[in-house]
Amino acid sequence: MPLYDFECCQCRHGYEGFLKVDEPYDQLECPECGAKNPKKLATAFRTNSWSKFLDTMERKVNPHKFK
Ligand SMILES: [Zn+2]
Repeated sequence: MPLYDFECCQCRHGYEGFLKVDEPYDQLECPECGAKNPKKLATAFRTNSWSKFLDTMERKVNPHKFK
């Protein structure tokens, strides 16, 4: 599952979130102020080996999340 970077449209707080490729992100809530509909940052899509490793590990630990 790719990890994206978001920026709150209200308080400019930056945070990360895991999303499926086609999953809408407008309901994500800012951990600082709770505002929804963050801005997805263009540099967000990460395909580095570390995120792949984490994804593989999560599939092993929580296979029910990957039906
Ligand atoms: Zn915020």
